[in-house]
Amino acid sequence: MDIPALIAKAETTHTLAKDEIVALLADDAHTDALLAAADRVRRLYVGDEVHLRGLIEFSNTCRQNCHYCGLRRDNAAVVRYRLEPDAVIDLARKAHGYGYKTLVLQSGEDPYYTVDKLRHIIGEIKKLGVAVTLSIGEKTCEEYSAYKEAGADRYLLRIETTDRRLYEALDPGMSFENRLRCLRDLKTLGYEVGTGSLIGLPGQTLAAIADDILFFRQIDADMIGVGPFIPNPDTPLAAAGGGTIALSLKVVALVRLLLPDVNIPATTAMETIDENGRIKALRSGANVVMPNVTEGDYRRLYALYPGKICVGDTPAHCRACIGGKIAAIGRRVAAGHGFRQKRTAR
Ligand code: SAH
Ligand code: SF4
Repeated sequence: MDIPALIAKAETTHTLAKDEIVALLADDAHTDALLAAADRVRRLYVGDEVHLRGLIEFSNTCRQNCHYCGLRRDNAAVVRYRLEPDAVIDLARKAHGYGYKTLVLQSGEDPYYTVDKLRHIIGEIKKLGVAVTLSIGEKTCEEYSAYKEAGADRYLLRIETTDRRLYEALDPGMSFENRLRCLRDLKTLGYEVGTGSLIGLPGQTLAAIADDILFFRQIDADMIGVGPFIPNPDTPLAAAGGGTIALSLKVVALVRLLLPDVNIPATTAMETIDENGRIKALRSGANVVMPNVTEGDYRRLYALYPGKICVGDTPAHCRACIGGKIAAIGRRVAAGHGFRQKRTAR
């Protein structure tokens, strides 16, 4: 296939067929041109502002057993913690003090946090005037509805991979259908919905990644977080090869080209496998960063994968560090809440 022509087509029409996406993912000769096209589309559609979302990792306890994840329930090597609701609210107040306009509450699937506890947490945090994003896994439609009523604005739930067989092999006891049901419910309830996938899972093909990108479009996702799979030594996938920064950046770029107005985070996993990974992603289509606002030992204990960056840092340090990096590439930290602004093709 004529790769430069495909890049031009993606940049101008924001549409590609599956085999065209695969050709771009497989090509290594025109990567710079692909990433640069995505950077131009990012600038045109969402501008130079970078939205910061403060990430609170409030529990590393999980009832699920995903093969790739260090928080899986069978991993006895991780010391488990749960923050009490008032401790979560306290972290949120501090994060608000650092200037964050969006807070992301993330955890394993932890039944300790009942609807009542979450209502209390969300309600108190909303009083700060921030947008609240939840990333707490699969719940019933009634639960999602209760969180929404309490004030939650957004929800992150990665599909992880749209290869149904691979999904069910890597997520024992979980069904692909239920994952889809969750995403549909969240959309219907009026959440801004974030999804995404892991890049470089064992057995994942480029065709499956192309399907992921088309899926994001099909469900009209508002936020797309993709990152490399990083093998965790305390999991069944300890010996697997992980995802590469090169492929992860190409996926970020293609997501920007095909869904030009969505919010795309430069993920922590990217920075974990490449010391400049987040900045590279910000220059390849991404426009969001999620600095960690968790404190103390909890950062280290929230060990999805090994080598996680900044586990010894404070929230204040992270805020200053990322602000400096963003300014150094001529971008600026956004002042608003950073909701998706739907834009028609330009
Ligand atoms: N329990 C919730 C949220 C926490 S997990 C959920 O699963 O939705 C957040 C994300 O961490 C997951 O969606 C997964 O994509 C990512 N993750 C888990 N293990 C990982 C690994 N080994 N490498 C990279 N990312 C990983
Ligand atoms: Fe639990 Fe999420 Fe990790 Fe799966 S990916 S084991 S649901 S924390």
